[in-house]
Amino acid sequence: MSRPATLQAVVKHGLCTGCGLCESLLGRARVEMRLTDEGYLRPSVKAAIPPEELAPVLATCPGATLTGPGAPSETATFAGAALHPVWGPVTSIQRVWAGDPAVRHRAAAGGALTALGCFLLTSGRAEAVLHVKASASQPMLSEAQVSTTPAEVIAGAQSRYGPAAPLVHVKRLLDEGRRFAVVAKPCDVAAVRALMRQDARARRQIVACLTIFCGGVPYLATAEDIARFKGLDPAQLTLFRWRGEGWPGPIRMESRDGRSAEMTYDEAWYNPAATWSYAMQFRCKICPDAIGELADVACPDGWIMEDGKPIHREAPGINIAIARTVAGRDLVEAALAAGALQAAPFTVEELFAMHGDHLDRKLGSPARLAGLRLAGEPVPRITGFRRWTTLRRAGLRASWRAFVGAFRRARAGANREVGT
Ligand SMILES: Cc1cc2nc3c(=O)[nH]c(=O)nc-3n(C[C@H](O)[C@H](O)[C@H](O)COP(=O)(O)OP(=O)(O)OC[C@H]3O[C@@H](n4cnc5c(N)ncnc54)[C@H](O)[C@@H]3O)c2cc1C
Ligand code: SF4
Ligand code: SF4
Repeated sequence: MSRPATLQAVVKHGLCTGCGLCESLLGRARVEMRLTDEGYLRPSVKAAIPPEELAPVLATCPGATLTGPGAPSETATFAGAALHPVWGPVTSIQRVWAGDPAVRHRAAAGGALTALGCFLLTSGRAEAVLHVKASASQPMLSEAQVSTTPAEVIAGAQSRYGPAAPLVHVKRLLDEGRRFAVVAKPCDVAAVRALMRQDARARRQIVACLTIFCGGVPYLATAEDIARFKGLDPAQLTLFRWRGEGWPGPIRMESRDGRSAEMTYDEAWYNPAATWSYAMQFRCKICPDAIGELADVACPDGWIMEDGKPIHREAPGINIAIARTVAGRDLVEAALAAGALQAAPFTVEELFAMHGDHLDRKLGSPARLAGLRLAGEPVPRITGFRRWTTLRRAGLRASWRAFVGAFRRARAGANREVGT
């Protein structure tokens, strides 16, 4: 077995990221994103899709195809960028934060993504920003949001560590002829870049791709168990905020009966006594690009460092803005000139200590994919992510461990999903 040949195979073999682009391209009458019993958003295929319609969708699906910045098809997009062997293309890098202190405070980190989204609208570069926001009726879930005003972009700030399908509105926006920006996870951006390769409208109308560094998407039960740990009934919550209102800001939950609870970032994510699981979707464990190599600008946290390690003590938020294309560099510079962002120096080498938690996933990805393949599982078609350089950098021992681990997990069926 090599590549997944259907959307159902993408889901079944644990390769779906939940981006929602297949629903958007094929229409909800035939493919609908639904929450599975396992707590992920997955496409439910309701009608047969002719092969000639399925093929271009699988070419954009990040569970089936992933084309990195080193692929010949991406040469023009990343022209002018220095290609770092680990951290990918870079045209500029600096610490940044939103010029508006209210945005900086509300947002997940320094509010760079929200500030850039607002700037794209107010400068007339974009007519809409496609991103996500918490669901009003089920606050642990997230829904895709098309924002046309800065107030709407700001309302969608903060991180949603759970299922979200940000791309379900892409085709509608293209059909309406709107110029828009996408703010989403690296795998979502990969899907959008792939669409831009095959669709001239997408190339014309999608004016910027902005992203995060991504530790992976946990399933819905993580949020539910955190609520229960604090004595709250998940079904009664009116607010579930993962972070923000400070940096990183606490998880905050509010319940219909007037009760509320908070949990610090470290208590939530670095807690040996946690009663909740950090389980994430399988696709995240083999992710070749959780650092947004395909975006115009990637904006991870700009953590404060103490004794060479990132700490999460509350402070005014800071991002690192890694512009990866010339267009991304120009956008950041224009936002700085307009006061939408403020900046301080940073170097790409500092990413090793600040975001070292990404190295195992990044460097282990080729070996894990090989392990899956040997176990007879389909894997996405992945090109342009410096496979051999990555393997050399990972070293023999770590690559072997990653290879054997993935092989064993696949043989045990740990990658399999039931779907909807
Ligand atoms: C699942 C997940 C994993 C993350 N892992 C890391 C990590 O490993 N390292 C790291 O430095 N940072 C990580 N972050 C990102 C970090 O939490 C900040 O969001 C990021 O640094 C941007 O900060 P900001 O202040 O510019 O964002 P904001 O200005 O608050 O804007 C965030 C934007 O991202 C969009 N968004 C939020 N959640 C999602 C989602 N699930 N899918 C699509 N779009 C979304 C929002 O709609 C908003 O437009 C993660 C975030 C998520 C959602
Ligand atoms: S990764 Fe995206 S496009 Fe592919 S099957 Fe999942 S939701 Fe659909
Ligand atoms: S780890 Fe990779 S596959 Fe998982 S959500 Fe993040 S970018 Fe997508």
